[in-house]
Amino acid sequence: MKQSHLFTKTSKQVPADADSANARFLIQGGFVSQLAAGVYSYLPLGLRVLDKIKNIVREELDAIGGQEIYMPALQPKQLYDKTGRWDAIDVLFKVEGHGKEYGLSCTAEEVVTPLVKEFVKSYKDLPVAVYQIQDKFRNEARAKSGLLRGREFSMKDLYSFHADEADFLAFYEKAKEAYLKIYSRCGLEAMVVEADGGVFTEKHSHEFQVMTEAGEDHVYVDKETREASNREIVPEADWGSDKYEVKKSIEVGNIFPLETKFSDAFKFSVQDAKGKQISPIMGCYGIGPSRTMGAVVEVHHDEKGIIWPKEIAPFGVHLISLEGRDGEGRVREVSEGLYDDLRAAGVEVLWDDRDARAGAKFADADVIGIPVRLVVSEKTLAEDNVEWKERSGDEVKMVNVGDVVGMLKG
Ligand code: ATP
Ligand code: MG
Repeated sequence: MKQSHLFTKTSKQVPADADSANARFLIQGGFVSQLAAGVYSYLPLGLRVLDKIKNIVREELDAIGGQEIYMPALQPKQLYDKTGRWDAIDVLFKVEGHGKEYGLSCTAEEVVTPLVKEFVKSYKDLPVAVYQIQDKFRNEARAKSGLLRGREFSMKDLYSFHADEADFLAFYEKAKEAYLKIYSRCGLEAMVVEADGGVFTEKHSHEFQVMTEAGEDHVYVDKETREASNREIVPEADWGSDKYEVKKSIEVGNIFPLETKFSDAFKFSVQDAKGKQISPIMGCYGIGPSRTMGAVVEVHHDEKGIIWPKEIAPFGVHLISLEGRDGEGRVREVSEGLYDDLRAAGVEVLWDDRDARAGAKFADADVIGIPVRLVVSEKTLAEDNVEWKERSGDEVKMVNVGDVVGMLKG
């Protein structure tokens, strides 16, 4: 993409209400724009990152047998009457239209359970694992920290259905592994943390926590066993004890055993091998792609801007032309050639072809945070070179124009 074509611009101004690095840099870089507290538009650069995260999620969930679906965000109230959650979920947005009441999707057990029940009649139809990537709505008391806590935000929610406990547990472990791969591909090291299982189960749920001072959660790591727990399951008397190392963190995912709470509520049963009716055992598995994007910025930035991990960077290369007073237009010619050749080789390039000062272009490259910066100028071309600098380091090297594509391909 040519930067001259990009309708967004970076901003030098630190947003007045930016309470976190991700809010600050994502707004300054032109990745997102805030519409209201916790409600953001994704701009071309930001949407590319969010879509890459979502696609990593898709790949890893498809690999464990997940099937993608898409369910409505308007959820009729009658469904909640079956589970008793209409008034129990305090963050549920409720809307009314033509005399009917709806909840705005903040999770989807009430929709997915009757949906799967339509098709699944026998233990032979199980297991089933369906997921969607859908914007969720939660009337959070305090939306804050940019993408970390929104009122409208992206969530991947997966629901699994099993004929027996052993099958559920095996899938639950596979989901854990898939989650860790997803975070690692996004450039995050996530820790599996035990947390409260909620009202449905005696078991623990598991959270995926990324350690950073910017987080609002606290992970308690037992110094002896190295077991990690969410604060809510640590006895209050131990909160200050030196039995634990306490770290601040961001919850980027959460997986839950649901037992038969929802299959029972919707009278969803299947025939087992002996012809008896049994309630499928369920699990639910959530990831916040938008919160993950915010967490990546919290972990990967410096004072100048974002440092995107390779797999989710909006572009692989930021090609910067410094045309100066170059009479023959050689800088432009070489840049255009590189732009075309890189794209033909499958490398995603943002080409700063604008008529702007070098300092402004470099500052933009730093805030936007694309992994590799290439500079083409009269000076570099004097030796048939381009300047190569990675966003994550300080080293600047010269690379022959003819070698660039080969070095970036694949
Ligand atoms: P939290 O404890 O942070 O409020 P939660 O436990 O209520 O989150 P879940 O219901 O487990 O969240 O949702 C699954 C995932 O969706 C979370 O792990 C998180 O990544 C994401 N998520 C939840 N709430 C928000 C929000 N308000 N803004 C952005 N992402 C969110
Ligand atoms: Mg949670």
